[in-house]
Amino acid sequence: MANKYKKTMNLPKTKFSMRASLAQNEPARLKDWEDNGVYELLLKKNEGHEKFVLHDGPPYANGPIHLGHAMNKISKDMINRYKAMRGYLTPYVPGWDCHGQPIEHKVEEQLGTEKFNQLPKEKVREICRKEAVSQVDTQRQGFKRLGVLGEWDNPYLTYVNDYDATDIEIFKAIYDKGAIYRGRKPVHWCSHCHTALAEAEIEYSDEVSPAIFVRFEMTTVPAGLEAYEGRLWVDIWTTTPWTLPADDAVILHPEASYVAVVVDGRCEILAEALVERDCAKFGYDSYELARTASGDVWRMTGEELCHNRYKQPIFGDQGVEGEFIYADYVTLEDGTGIVHTAPGHGVDDYNAGMRFNIPIVMPVDDDGRFYKGDKIGTGGPWSGMEVNEANPKIIEWLRERDVLILHEDITHSYPHCWRCKQPVIFRATNQWFVSMDETGLRKQALDALDHVRFYPAHSVKRIGSMVEQRPDWCISRQRSWGVPIPAFTCQDCGETVVNDDTLDDVIRLFREKGSDAWFTDDPKEYLGEHCVCPKCGSHELKANQDILDVWWDSGVSHTAVCKHRDYLQFPADMYLEGSDQHRGWFMSSLMTSVGAYGVAPYKSVVSQGFTLDGQGRKMSKSLGNTIDPNKVCDTRGADIVRLWVSSVDTSVDVACDEQILDRVADAYRRFRNTLRFLLGELEGQFDLATDGLPFEELTAYDKLNLARMCQVHDQVTEAYEGYRFNVVYRTLYDYVVTELSNGYLNATKDRMYCSAAGSKERRSAQTTWSYLLSMLVHDLQPILAYTTDEVMAYLPESLREGQRYAALLDWFEAPLDLAGYERYLGAYEAMLEARNAFTKAYDKALEAGTIEEKTTQAARAELTVPHDAFEALSGVEGLDLGEAFVCSDVCLHEGEELACECLPAEGHKCERCWNWREVGEDGLCERCREAVAAAE
Ligand SMILES: [Zn+2]
Ligand SMILES: [Zn+2]
Ligand SMILES: [Zn+2]
Repeated sequence: MANKYKKTMNLPKTKFSMRASLAQNEPARLKDWEDNGVYELLLKKNEGHEKFVLHDGPPYANGPIHLGHAMNKISKDMINRYKAMRGYLTPYVPGWDCHGQPIEHKVEEQLGTEKFNQLPKEKVREICRKEAVSQVDTQRQGFKRLGVLGEWDNPYLTYVNDYDATDIEIFKAIYDKGAIYRGRKPVHWCSHCHTALAEAEIEYSDEVSPAIFVRFEMTTVPAGLEAYEGRLWVDIWTTTPWTLPADDAVILHPEASYVAVVVDGRCEILAEALVERDCAKFGYDSYELARTASGDVWRMTGEELCHNRYKQPIFGDQGVEGEFIYADYVTLEDGTGIVHTAPGHGVDDYNAGMRFNIPIVMPVDDDGRFYKGDKIGTGGPWSGMEVNEANPKIIEWLRERDVLILHEDITHSYPHCWRCKQPVIFRATNQWFVSMDETGLRKQALDALDHVRFYPAHSVKRIGSMVEQRPDWCISRQRSWGVPIPAFTCQDCGETVVNDDTLDDVIRLFREKGSDAWFTDDPKEYLGEHCVCPKCGSHELKANQDILDVWWDSGVSHTAVCKHRDYLQFPADMYLEGSDQHRGWFMSSLMTSVGAYGVAPYKSVVSQGFTLDGQGRKMSKSLGNTIDPNKVCDTRGADIVRLWVSSVDTSVDVACDEQILDRVADAYRRFRNTLRFLLGELEGQFDLATDGLPFEELTAYDKLNLARMCQVHDQVTEAYEGYRFNVVYRTLYDYVVTELSNGYLNATKDRMYCSAAGSKERRSAQTTWSYLLSMLVHDLQPILAYTTDEVMAYLPESLREGQRYAALLDWFEAPLDLAGYERYLGAYEAMLEARNAFTKAYDKALEAGTIEEKTTQAARAELTVPHDAFEALSGVEGLDLGEAFVCSDVCLHEGEELACECLPAEGHKCERCWNWREVGEDGLCERCREAVAAAE
């Protein structure tokens, strides 16, 4: 609409572009940050201040970054940027986990298994290292593009010499305390990858297995069953028939009652609770319960039956026997209440077997095949056969001998290898372990957790219960790409040689030449006089070939990084990772730190959920629902990814898809437009430092809004302090959209545009707008790193705090503290409520035709508010509700309840400001007349 007074008005003007063009502009800004060392400037700004060290958890150097990575790094960057604004010195050293199975696996795939196996270890390791380096470069570009500030040109990498040496330093510290031992124990074993797997490397998925009921012939007679001697059996149930060659015990529940059923001339023992169900299942139609000589039904508990014996199911004819033992974990839900046991093939079995001194029989080799032979400890009839292949043959063999009672297939959750996705087996092997209890590590770790703050708070329970239940940590792996376990084997007597002397020599060797030297150098060279077997005196020591679990590598970063880089600190202030790291990196870091130093490596732990698609499904290439953060940067911009991260509750699983990003982009436009709108009346026109009014001189309406802004800022600060970015986002978004854009900014537009440029009333509004602009730039800086930095160039001088980059700003200092703003909040609330009532009344009046002009400016209001609101509103001297409601006048009354009536405005429409006022013959209201005069 044409307005001939346009030239006399202060219409918005700013060079800050409405179009963001983030994808095009961000890379140039990033280059500027790099060229001018913004990260270094940030450290310099806070030099000498208290440190806040967020220690980066190393992503695995494999493949391009995904959305989960992006969320992780952006979250860390938001925290660091916030803390830096609060004045903390925030050195941030990103890192990568470079050793381990995935890279080795990839190299194996590239070379082909045959060639891979032929290459010497050092060659394999060289190729693996090259692979890791190239992956690090790719990921680093992606992370930097997201706007994450850090020491990108000097990250920590787990394969460098000092890091290798640190692995052994920590090994030595824990070994010296007596918590590391070598033992034969069942571990998850992937026969495909030829390695033991940690719990964290196991994935569970459904698998169909044969479940068989088998009867074992007894060789002892429990008291009371003398009459059945020679035809006594015990019925067991197993889902792993291939473990039967290793069977040497059956486990009962100590308190459960067992009975014996007499059927077809046999007398078979099983749990009383399962008799009916099992006999029906077995087709034992005409069974009877065995009775003692006195005629009572025979019953015994598991504990009472302990130490009875039976013929080993496969090798029993050679005189091999198994034993009855008991354990609490046996349930009466499935099977017969009696479990066949092979202590070499299961952790529970192993623990139960240990208590009763049951030997570990281990007939399965690294490939998952039975050793050849015909004695116990071999596969016997299935010699050389792969265990799963043997399953049906074993079942058939049992059937032929009439000891198979029933065979059915069941679907159950079964452990699989995280890498090759093949089902794994439990297998006793010689491995290195960190004992959880030998030196009290478990208890110390639990105590240490008491001193750690967890976000969310309840996640301490998660890691705590994992520590409670954690079996001894198997730290050896049978692979090439990692740091060797620093042990030697005497070639003459087989003794394992590890001591302080050899460990110190190895640490020195690794620090000088890296762990590659382990595979190339002769122990005599680097051990010197320490190259001796303490048992037999031989000097022929051979370096052991196992490597350390890769979780050990990343776990010792508290020392390799936080301690060894003296500008960081130990313990770190924070670890932040996905919630799966409770059993991964949070755990291995805790164990190695508590093991070596007795304290947790972190003061606080933030855990986050996973990224899912909009429908709550896991993102996967096959579903085609992945959101590639690199691509989002190239199309929408990194600030959109950052704003998305801030918008979701990262403490639980979060959703993302293109529709969600559309909404985030829309929110971004709201923020950007608001910044631009504010700049339009400030840029080049007003500087708070020289033109601002003191709070007391502001208009009452400005005072209320400034008070509210201070409250919002406090809410935002509190949310940042609790690392709840989604609360920051939600608070700022709601404030900007509902309270500023549609409320205060819309209402004060008139004063800004139409009052004389230098008038006090306009200065009052500009003062308030300046604070708003400054507050938004500060509060959004950790999130919208690029956009707030872009705004810097347009800010009035004093708002820049002498800085060129937004990252270097200090945290916003609100003009009022709680005591200062609190007393205005009641009136502010009352005003918002009254405004809602006005809006409704206006719509009604419009509908009824009471008001004809379609603008609230043409209305006046008769407003009735309850006592408290009346007191609050009339208590603020000079409060102009007409301005707040954008109407001509508000007449305030006290009454029972909130009510509003809209009537046509009195006076006439001013030709310049379109407010309904008393206007003169020139068609202008008094204010406008003055403004025009001042402008001429
Ligand atoms: Zn595997
Ligand atoms: Zn020896
Ligand atoms: Zn006017």
